[in-house]
Amino acid sequence: MYQFVIALLYLTIVGLFVVCAISLSKWGGMHHTYLFFYCVSNLIYNCAYILMMHADNQETYVTALKIGYLGRAWVALSMTMFIAKISGRHFPTLVKAAAGILNVVVYFFILNLERTHLYYKTMKFVMDGDFPTLPHSGGPLYYFYTLTNLFYSYACVYMIVKAFIHEKNKTAKKRDLMIMFSLAALVTSYLIYYFKLIPLARKFDTMIIGYAICTAFMLIAIIKYKMLDTAAAAKNYVVDELSEGIIAVDVEDRLNYINKPALKLFPELADQEKEPDTQRVLATLNEAINRGEPVRLDGRIYTPRVNPLTEEGLRIGTLYSLSDDSDHYRYMDELREQKKIADEANRSKSQFLANMSHEIRTPINAVLGFNEMITRECAKMEEGGEAISPAVKDAFGNIGTYSGNIEGAGNNLLSIINDILDISKIEAGKMELTDGRYSLGSLLKDITGMISFRASEKNLAFVADVDEKLPDELFGDMVRIRQVIINILTNAVKYTEKGTVWLTVNAGGKKDLTEGGTLPLTIVVKDTGIGIRPEDMDKLFGSFERFELKRNSTIEGTGLGLAISHQLVSMMDGKIEVESEYGEGSTFTIVIPQKIISCEPVGKLGEHEKAGNAGKKRHKASFAAPDAVILVVDDTHLNLKVATALLKDTGLKIDTAESGKRALELADTNKYDVILMDQRMPNMDGTETLRHIRATENALNVKTPVICMTADAIIGSRERYIAEGFDDYLSKPIKVAELEETLIKYLPADKVTMVESADGT
Ligand code: ADP
Repeated sequence: MYQFVIALLYLTIVGLFVVCAISLSKWGGMHHTYLFFYCVSNLIYNCAYILMMHADNQETYVTALKIGYLGRAWVALSMTMFIAKISGRHFPTLVKAAAGILNVVVYFFILNLERTHLYYKTMKFVMDGDFPTLPHSGGPLYYFYTLTNLFYSYACVYMIVKAFIHEKNKTAKKRDLMIMFSLAALVTSYLIYYFKLIPLARKFDTMIIGYAICTAFMLIAIIKYKMLDTAAAAKNYVVDELSEGIIAVDVEDRLNYINKPALKLFPELADQEKEPDTQRVLATLNEAINRGEPVRLDGRIYTPRVNPLTEEGLRIGTLYSLSDDSDHYRYMDELREQKKIADEANRSKSQFLANMSHEIRTPINAVLGFNEMITRECAKMEEGGEAISPAVKDAFGNIGTYSGNIEGAGNNLLSIINDILDISKIEAGKMELTDGRYSLGSLLKDITGMISFRASEKNLAFVADVDEKLPDELFGDMVRIRQVIINILTNAVKYTEKGTVWLTVNAGGKKDLTEGGTLPLTIVVKDTGIGIRPEDMDKLFGSFERFELKRNSTIEGTGLGLAISHQLVSMMDGKIEVESEYGEGSTFTIVIPQKIISCEPVGKLGEHEKAGNAGKKRHKASFAAPDAVILVVDDTHLNLKVATALLKDTGLKIDTAESGKRALELADTNKYDVILMDQRMPNMDGTETLRHIRATENALNVKTPVICMTADAIIGSRERYIAEGFDDYLSKPIKVAELEETLIKYLPADKVTMVESADGT
């Protein structure tokens, strides 16, 4: 029996070592600290017990006993702390400290048990067969210690049973059950020992076996049910279970730690000893990080990151992390794909607009061109003197009026197309400003002339008040400024039934206007019109917004003018503001910063704006050039006819070609002063024809100015055609004044005679 007990003791010592090692390797929180402490306490007691079993006198026995109590004194307390921890209970530090001090005090008396007799009143060393024993009678401290141990045991049972009852998590419930088993083993061994229920209990502390069984059960609980406290479990969960892969290496890039997700991605790193594998993985990650690219593994996309690991300012390694951003990247890919589709659609839209503008402008060109001819012919007939009967004169007068209406409607249609093109360009971000020098005086003269004519048609008064001291020569996009001012003024006239439209232009109060400085060009347009309702004010600058459609049903408009104006003004770094009183009138204020080229003042605008345009005068050619020869190339027969008709009065000799090929044939044999070339033609377009004309060095027309004519009004056209080698650009529908102006510019001066017009200009 003695041998059996000794063997059992050694076995429990080995078992306790194993538990110590496991709880050390799985260290995950305070409860492992308590369990470790519990094992070590047991270990000390068991070792000392072996000594006791080998004692042959009282002194040796008691010395071994004292060593044993160094551990045994802590067994119950550390177990209680351990069970409290896993049952989710928390003891204040003060209580733990008090229990610890009590243990130290009891142990102090145990160390001096022969002198104080407080722990053992009497004791006597007796050999019971092979077993050295120390029969004793307990002193007050002995009973106190027994009571505290009983209390601890009761507390443990209470805590674990309660935790078991309330636990919802199945695994945790199993774990609690396992611990209840371990406690049951302990309590049984205690009862056996206390009441000496088996003969061995008289000679041997059977609780040692109880503690060993208890420890074994706890070990199973640790391994099988992963006893971690919540915080540690959460940390481990985050590190191991979440999708982020983590790899930690030391300063020499040796693998120190790899979590589960990272291991799944790089299974070759499972064997931490294989350095080449680690190096290869790190190289892949570093390369991706340097390029700022994600890493694609197992069909998923990861963002790699690297962070230095430091402790107290000292570099101890590197932490690589890989976050699974597959969804994000896929979403981005999808967005890119969608953007590509949208861009493609937008390109198609632009292409469609370019085509549409071409297709619509070409027939309008013909309509307006021929209409111009009708007007001219009618005017001629009206002036025809006595030879024509009054009835015929009357008829021609009427036809003239009708053709005037056709011109109005045609121009209106053109401006709608232009608006749609403008807003499309703005939306596509393709609207560009073309800055240049311009004369503010001329611009305003032109605008006021046009608006006063429109105002007078509606019997409205038009008052223009332009600060005479404003600098005349400015730098900016004159065409777009003109477009904005005309649009606002046209609206003022359109939406005013009776009263006045005011145009005020000044420097917005700025005094120091110097050359090279900036002029806050301020344009205020005020009317006594229908006004705008407060609820419509916010939508005023939106595309296709028109208000009070019933009331304004007779007023033409697309609802694009203000949207375009607002965008253009913003592009020019300016601002546009509106004040309006419904039923009373509106005031639009536009401020556009413009660079001052010269401070020469604009002066008085002249009588132009007040007189208004007294009406259309019959067109007279501004020049005559009977000795000049030009070639007009256009695949649309009607356009050739229009051009020829429009230039009839100039006396120009005009050759026409309906294709690029025909143009080349003519250019081969005839020397022209100017060539007007349509751009879009089947087979050989304008650019290609131009290239052929310029191809041979000594060809007849190698130096002849070639002017591109196109209905393609998409932005960049002008720049593009000039870059392609054309000398100039005319946009269709061809306006007779523009056409003449361009021809005067390019025809040889000695072949051109200027004709004075009826109004003396
Ligand atoms: P539209 O082509 O309809 O004139 P705009 O964009 O120029 O388009 O103007 C948008 C709307 O704003 C108009 O339909 C009209 O209802 C209102 N509006 C613009 N200017 C004035 C004004 N001076 N007085 C009253 N209403 C105006």
